Amino acid sequence: MKFTELNLPENILKALKKMGYEDMTPIQEATYPAIFSGQDLCALAETGSGKTAACAIPLIQKVDPELNAIQVLVLVPTRELCMQYMAEIQKLAAHTELVPYAVYGGFDKCIQVSTLKHKVHILVATPGRLIDLLYDGVLSFAQVKCAILDEADELLKVGFLEDIEFILSCILHEHQTLLFSATMPEDIKKLAHDCMRNPQHISLITERAGPESIEHYFSYCHPKQKQEELIKYLAGEVVDQALIFCNARHKVDTLFHAIRKDLKDIDYMHAGLTQDKRSGIIRKFRSCKLRYLIASDVAGKGLDFSHVSHVINWDFPRDSEQYTHRTGRTGRMGRKGKAFTFISKHDVPRLRDLIRIKKITPCWIGNDPLSEISTTQEPKPRRKKRTFRPRPAKAVQKAE
Ligand code: AMP
Repeated sequence: MKFTELNLPENILKALKKMGYEDMTPIQEATYPAIFSGQDLCALAETGSGKTAACAIPLIQKVDPELNAIQVLVLVPTRELCMQYMAEIQKLAAHTELVPYAVYGGFDKCIQVSTLKHKVHILVATPGRLIDLLYDGVLSFAQVKCAILDEADELLKVGFLEDIEFILSCILHEHQTLLFSATMPEDIKKLAHDCMRNPQHISLITERAGPESIEHYFSYCHPKQKQEELIKYLAGEVVDQALIFCNARHKVDTLFHAIRKDLKDIDYMHAGLTQDKRSGIIRKFRSCKLRYLIASDVAGKGLDFSHVSHVINWDFPRDSEQYTHRTGRTGRMGRKGKAFTFISKHDVPRLRDLIRIKKITPCWIGNDPLSEISTTQEPKPRRKKRTFRPRPAKAVQKAE
């Protein structure tokens, strides 16, 4: 959904345009109605999902710039997040009269106190410094309409539970509470239960396939042999749908043109295509009109397909998280899935890390470079097996 479909005030649309935000991210689309309507919300969402703007866009519209008081309070676990959150709000509120401000430890408290005494509408804070300021008596929460607990699981990990409970207990009147967390352990559930009124629960965590539902195949072959190996591998498999990941747009293009004649019902997708084209391809793939989709990670972000039986890493993923993210597109809902990854010589150290970190049991198609004495050599192109057929003397001579 596009932001322009939301009926947003001109000053926010102007900021969004300047920031280059056109389409809402899934978390923004899913949470906007609840946040805008004032409902409490408990959202399971990953870092980097667009949570900040998801909160800021509806809330900016509700803050009264004429009222000189803190109206939105955001609690974050670290200074870095505090600054990052603040920077995003500043940009989104750039064409309004609102004053956002961040307070965190390690920064001159006197400056913070004088700014707070002057005018602040949206306060982003780490719990420790906020409590200091509360004890100093320079803060009033009398006009707070909304409290946000961002990265709640991280807040709790660093031992802030009591601090948070204390801070929230200082808001004495009814208000909206929004909680964002990447995981939902028992203590977060309890916190949500204790400090929220009938919250809406939203989960936007990509369901990651456990290692037990995916078989992890690897092929250590010469780059020139990858295409032939891929076609051979797919021909020997029962493929419902396969997602083939490349690390760059131009690789997606090149691979598509190289293999389109061998694989039927294939298309490709990357961030260089228009949004309309990408949406069309996603629709076709989701409705199983396409069997193979070559994609870059940017284009593949947030895609949820239920019929993917195979994930191919044409290029080795950047890190183990990216590997999990890509391969998690298969083996969903308890179904079996297969991941097939090409390895080159320089991928071997990262492969070792991947296997260790993700506790993967690799199945090798061809050579296993990890068990070879030397992995410093580039895999040699495998020669085609030839059956010896004696040639007529004349032909041999000609070949010489
Ligand atoms: P956050 O999860 O809030 O830290 O956001 C992650 C990143 O996504 C930040 O760099 C934001 O600037 C960016 N972002 C948030 N919403 C959008 C959007 N609708 N379109 C494009 N980028 C966005």
